[in-house]
Amino acid sequence: MVRVAVVGAGIGGLAAAVALIRRGFRVDVYEQARRLGEVGAGLHLAPNGSRLLARWGLADGLRRTAVRPAALEVRDGSSGRGLIEQPMGDGWEEAFGAPYWTVHRADLHRALADQVPVESVHVRRALVGFADEGDGVRLEFADGGTARADVLVGADGVHSVVRQAVAGPESPVFSSTSAFRGLVPAHRVPDLPRDRVLVWVGPSSRLLCAPVRAGAFLAFVAVVPGGEWTLESWSAPGDAGDLAAAFADWDPAVKEIVSAVEDTRRWALYDREPLERWGSGRVTLLGDAAHPMLPHHGQGAGQAIEDAAALAHCLDTATRAGTGTRTALREPSGTAEGLARYEAIRRPHTTRVQLGARGGGSLRLRRPGPETPDGAGLASLVDDVSWIHRYDVEEALGRG
Ligand code: FAD
Repeated sequence: MVRVAVVGAGIGGLAAAVALIRRGFRVDVYEQARRLGEVGAGLHLAPNGSRLLARWGLADGLRRTAVRPAALEVRDGSSGRGLIEQPMGDGWEEAFGAPYWTVHRADLHRALADQVPVESVHVRRALVGFADEGDGVRLEFADGGTARADVLVGADGVHSVVRQAVAGPESPVFSSTSAFRGLVPAHRVPDLPRDRVLVWVGPSSRLLCAPVRAGAFLAFVAVVPGGEWTLESWSAPGDAGDLAAAFADWDPAVKEIVSAVEDTRRWALYDREPLERWGSGRVTLLGDAAHPMLPHHGQGAGQAIEDAAALAHCLDTATRAGTGTRTALREPSGTAEGLARYEAIRRPHTTRVQLGARGGGSLRLRRPGPETPDGAGLASLVDDVSWIHRYDVEEALGRG
């Protein structure tokens, strides 16, 4: 039996646990929080991620709350004039082979957590250090406890302890922008359509709104310029008054949304250079710990889910004891080879997504100007994301 320790029970860590357990690994997930809770707001799940969740049997459950937007509509920030509309829905699903969903992070988190036995998840376990001892990895926790495993997967997010040990000190690059996020009950903005992603664009700010929880809530992300907000934290509270002030002279529909906001989080947007390596021996990284990215491609969760599928596939192949069955005795000696293959397939792809997110994705949605006629930004956005949405990591592994 190969024992895998996954540090972090976010979307990436739980996805890794689901994928590994499905292939017969023994998995322990260590999470620093006191409990797995209702945290976050809206997430975008493009076909590259949703196709894997469907293969893991999660699609029917998710469909109850996830929304499959009928279209992406871009409006002018000050006048509210409709600029461009990209149909999604059936057409997107047919083109990319799986649905595009907008989902509450907590709903996806719960769907994944429901697939992991409770005894495999250890909360209040904050990793503070580890040592690869050759025949296994020793984990050290803040409470003084320790654990051992054959493999350590650092899925501990953007401020990853495992990443720091693997990569050393880094200098995050501040984009001088920050994002307000949160949820607005749809009944507070009754005139807004609940079946589409809406984006209002201004010269330097934009507000994106997407339905979640079967359309009962609109999840918003408002990106604003300014270097004064420097806190990189999902849980840092933002000031709803600051949000309202930033959009005070915008389209009345935008003002209606921001004035309905009671609770918002504010996240300073930083970037980091892609890593040269994700680990060595029995240690690797996954999700935001491996490739923290700006949110403009909407791929934080999707890339973490792809990592999870690839990790499980590569470890499975490299540790099989020869009988070919999934639950066969495994050879822990194959883990380093499995992790090397995992990194080899994932790092080039996520590097491309990470670098693309810097200037692409929703940043392409600009107000038309002399150099950006109506529709030009949208056309390049579709080009920009289609190679990501089309990607099937399991198919790529089969080819590689
Ligand atoms: P994360 O989702 O960040 O998960 C990392 C996990 O590791 C967390 O549970 C964290 O508590 C745990 N952890 C960190 N350090 C340690 C340690 N030393 N020991 C043990 N555990 C540790 N994205 C959006 O697009 N929209 C949102 O609204 C949104 N809300 C979020 C809210 C929270 C509280 C968090 C943590 C993330 C949120 N994200 C959101 C980010 C999004 O979930 C990720 O970009 C993406 O899903 C990749 O997930 P991840 O598992 O790699 O990282």
